[in-house]
Amino acid sequence: MTPELALQNLLEGNKRYVEGCLTSNNLPENRSILAKGQAPIASIIRCSDSRVAPEIVFDQPLGRLFVCGVAGNIPTPEIIESLEYAMNHLGVSLIVIMGHTSCGAISAALHNEFVDGLFAQIALSPNPDPDECAAHNAEQGISTILGSSIQIEEAVKNGFVQIVAGVQDIASGEFDLVAQTQLN
Ligand SMILES: [Zn+2]
Repeated sequence: MTPELALQNLLEGNKRYVEGCLTSNNLPENRSILAKGQAPIASIIRCSDSRVAPEIVFDQPLGRLFVCGVAGNIPTPEIIESLEYAMNHLGVSLIVIMGHTSCGAISAALHNEFVDGLFAQIALSPNPDPDECAAHNAEQGISTILGSSIQIEEAVKNGFVQIVAGVQDIASGEFDLVAQTQLN
């Protein structure tokens, strides 16, 4: 699946989620198909926040999303290796960095609670508004991935892979894109 079509699938699913018209029901009879293998359409970097669930927010059944999670949705080395696996072995062409409003990790970073370690990597925007920072941090994830993975950088350059960043508004459910790599 092309990155454009994968993104269209996710945004249409998000529209269904916002409207309360979910279609993914994960029926027991589908499990025998899932047991034979997976063909996800997108990789997602999500925050560990309990209000963020890509399969629900994008209304996708099991087997469609390759989800990597860490508080603050930071592309850590382990997450980037997972993204490389999904690209190389599962043919995933779209990577989504999924920030969200009311993010505890962002708020803690704003209050300088982290002097080192994982959360010190959260990228805060010049504007100290937490939701602005969530958008900035998600966008910054694109550069982190491109700067850390030669494989993914090449695939983006060649137009095989696209990386997008966005923010899920917890209250409305809407996922808004804030940045994306340009396809050739
Ligand atoms: Zn969060």
